Amino acid sequence: MAQNDFLEGKRERGDEDGFKPVPVSAHSAGGGWHLEHSYAGLPAAFWTEVTPSAVQAPQLALFNHRLARELGLDADALAGAESAAIFAGNQLPPGAKPLAQAYSGHQYGHFTTLGDGRAILLGEQITPTGARCDIQLKGAGPTPFSRRGDGRAALGPMLREYIISEAMAALGIPTTRSLAVATTGEPVWRPEARPGAVLTRVAASHLRVGTFAGAAARGNLGELHALVDYTIGRHYPQLLGAPNPALALLEAVLERQAALVSRWMLVGFVHGVLNTDNVALSGETIDYGPCAFIDAYDPATVFSSIDRHGRYAFGNQPKITHWNVTRLAEALLTVLHEDADTAVELAQEALGRFEVQYQAHWLAGMRGKLGLFNAEAEDTALAKDLLTWMHTTKADFTNTFAALSDGTEANGISGADTQLTDWLGRWRQRLTRQEQTEVESIRLRQASNPAVIARNHRVEAALAAAEQGDFSVLEQLLADLASPFDHTRADPQAREPAPPSGEAYRTFCGT
Ligand code: AMP
Ligand code: MG
Repeated sequence: MAQNDFLEGKRERGDEDGFKPVPVSAHSAGGGWHLEHSYAGLPAAFWTEVTPSAVQAPQLALFNHRLARELGLDADALAGAESAAIFAGNQLPPGAKPLAQAYSGHQYGHFTTLGDGRAILLGEQITPTGARCDIQLKGAGPTPFSRRGDGRAALGPMLREYIISEAMAALGIPTTRSLAVATTGEPVWRPEARPGAVLTRVAASHLRVGTFAGAAARGNLGELHALVDYTIGRHYPQLLGAPNPALALLEAVLERQAALVSRWMLVGFVHGVLNTDNVALSGETIDYGPCAFIDAYDPATVFSSIDRHGRYAFGNQPKITHWNVTRLAEALLTVLHEDADTAVELAQEALGRFEVQYQAHWLAGMRGKLGLFNAEAEDTALAKDLLTWMHTTKADFTNTFAALSDGTEANGISGADTQLTDWLGRWRQRLTRQEQTEVESIRLRQASNPAVIARNHRVEAALAAAEQGDFSVLEQLLADLASPFDHTRADPQAREPAPPSGEAYRTFCGT
């Protein structure tokens, strides 16, 4: 339950928020926008003012009514054709003060100075519950950080981010959200002409490990202190007044990242590009590029066409998350302690706990997937043996757990053999060693194992149709993904993995 409380934290962010909530009456004017700009209170090195570049023919392709209402926006007014101008960057919503954020990042292990090259922050929407959410336009034109890029985005990748981020939210996994996709009426060259689009991304914040790495690289202690205080105020207000704020922050981020990556591992999600500019201090999943869900269980699964050595492979994600948070620790060294050796010791001590934290989250999640309420020492082996069976038989990860969720597992799992029969016997025995009934256990399993995930072939079909102007396939997919734990709605088509094609599924970076 404690874990769930944390995962639900997004909804409760208002309570935790270190900033003063605004009165609800402030929401009445102009589409419900209530934008503030706390990030711009950081030293000037962290951001640059920049305005979105207008596009030729903005059109609203997708609008997230439910999210809009949660944000306190006037969903009906904003879903109209005229608000395409806002979501394409042609017109600023009231109170917007657009800026691009400065940050660095380790890309495939190599330190690079980056910054928002194609994303522009309009401000922070204060929601009716007092939560503070970044409203960002992704693909809204060049910024001083664009390097050789065009500052633009293609429709396919923006729709893909919309689909997967909303699917993750429905799974209860902390994530940035997608409010809208607007098409621009202009081509982008990738390298052939593709329809251009702008995604409106909603995030607890866009503070990243790379934001800290950038400040550390500039070597300015004041900037680092300001960033630590700001991040604590925004995401970890319970740490305000901690004797060592930088250490408290590092420990809190480690814990959230351990929880987050365990959630990915429990649903078969491959982020695909876990560079440190894509690791959010809030603990949300961020930057959906070449991400995808696994079908057959295989820790070596890689979808991204550029991840040639499997650095960001499915099974590598806990290790790489530890690596990424180690980069945060490095960036914080000068503010962890004035004595360099002591600082390193403090960092290493905190980082040393990651593995245990991750395992605890993973095991708690696995117990839920197996319908177990109590804890036994053999539970890790029980879970791992099932995974080993899946790996050797190339069983579908999602459907295997879904089959375990309806009480008819033996006939629901394809490729069942004696090894699986043995395992099922052990599991059945284990289920008797808890107080809860089979009905209660089934309920827990169904709430822990999605029946429907964003299958790659369905995502591709939805994107292909949408690029031709037909959004019906995508709308159906979004509807299916909105209630992933609904095991009663047995639409077999929504559950099927892709037919074997002999070719590995490949995704391409969102640029
Ligand atoms: P990403 O792969 O989306 O995490 O982006 C990595 C870096 O490249 C970030 O600094 C982005 O802002 C930048 N970037 C990605 N695509 C573009 C683009 N089309 N134009 C300019 N900058 C970009
Ligand atoms: Mg990024």
